[in-house]
Amino acid sequence: MNILVLNCGSSSLKFQLIATDLERIEQNADQRLAHGMIERIGGAAILNFAVEGKTAEKSAAPIRDIPSALEAVIRWISAQSIEGVNNLGDIDAVGHRVVHGGEYFSQSVLINDEVLRAIEDCIELAPLHNPANIKGIQAVKEIFGKAIPQAAVFDTAFHQTLPEKAFLYAIPYQLYRRHKIRRYGFHGTSHRYIAYRYRTTNHIPRERVNVITLHLGNGCSIAAIKNGNSIDTSMGLTPLEGLVMGTRSGDLDAAILELVGAKEGLTIHETVMLLNKQSGLLGISGLTNDMRELLAEAEESDDRRAKLAIEIFCYRVGKYIGAYLAAMNGTDTIIFGGGIGENSAKIRSLICENLKWFGIALDETENSAHVGGREGTISTEDSRTKVCVIPTNEELLIARDTVRLIHGKI
Ligand code: AMP
Repeated sequence: MNILVLNCGSSSLKFQLIATDLERIEQNADQRLAHGMIERIGGAAILNFAVEGKTAEKSAAPIRDIPSALEAVIRWISAQSIEGVNNLGDIDAVGHRVVHGGEYFSQSVLINDEVLRAIEDCIELAPLHNPANIKGIQAVKEIFGKAIPQAAVFDTAFHQTLPEKAFLYAIPYQLYRRHKIRRYGFHGTSHRYIAYRYRTTNHIPRERVNVITLHLGNGCSIAAIKNGNSIDTSMGLTPLEGLVMGTRSGDLDAAILELVGAKEGLTIHETVMLLNKQSGLLGISGLTNDMRELLAEAEESDDRRAKLAIEIFCYRVGKYIGAYLAAMNGTDTIIFGGGIGENSAKIRSLICENLKWFGIALDETENSAHVGGREGTISTEDSRTKVCVIPTNEELLIARDTVRLIHGKI
């Protein structure tokens, strides 16, 4: 089957076209056929598309909204010579990344009117993301017709197994009862993929998976996975909480909101935007949200604030790993994923420096060798806990969930 995977944001659309079916899933033989993204939807958009194995095509065009962006993607796909995909009819189903499923969804689902209503109900929990996801779902209906199967794969679903002690905030309980204020956690598809890949390559049954997974990208989160289930995670009601990220602050004292607002003349909304968009690595360094650039600045220019941003980033990750080792009563493996986690041996090394007390030690030759998508173990033979790198692949999991839902296997 050819599955179109869509990730619709407020001003961007990312897609992958993946050929997969039950047999290919079993044999890990799925095939990505094409991928791309459109940025700055709503104005002069930038389109970046690529057929697998060929050079990417970059262009610019005015694109008004998500339906127009999806039409541009379909037009482009139809114009390529991709084996088995000549027109719209050759796309069998669409899988959507949906950010917030609230307490409604603990797994992926095929979309029907009831599901769509529940995704709409979650808009107040994710006002920037869920409306774009809904627009993507509606655009598919309009362009492909109502009959095409569409699946929703939620960022929050994998973390629905968190126990109350991990998901409740210590605020008046009625705020949870009345408004569902609680920790939901995000990047669930990424944490689930990493845990799944770990257990299939190591031939471990799901219920024996005890790992800490780290998704360190522009957004960052950590999950404690015990007996195959997520039992704690660092992002909260929204993706703002937890680790230091590219532009998000992560954990802080909520009283900062009032003081910063008063001192800087900002509304609560503006202050929350500042914490989401101007903080984290960017806020500390005053330079960039991009870890690769920060590492270069620290090395080449000895920039104090670039070094400080890196130090705070790694310190916070180390603290969370320590906390989760306690929450889980020990772990078998710590797994790095995400753009930074998969590619930066330096950051992995700095994080693990703080874990020596736990008997965790990296083999620096292996660590340096596992970059650019290479999967494997980077700890020494005698490290008390194994440390691995597993490149994440959320889109693949979305395509696979879509196929499995169509065949009634979820
Ligand atoms: P993602 O959101 O998963 O695409 O990750 C993006 C982040 O990964 C950015 O901060 C990049 O700078 C970072 N990244 C990608 N490659 C490297 C690298 N080789 N070294 C350090 N950071 C990297």
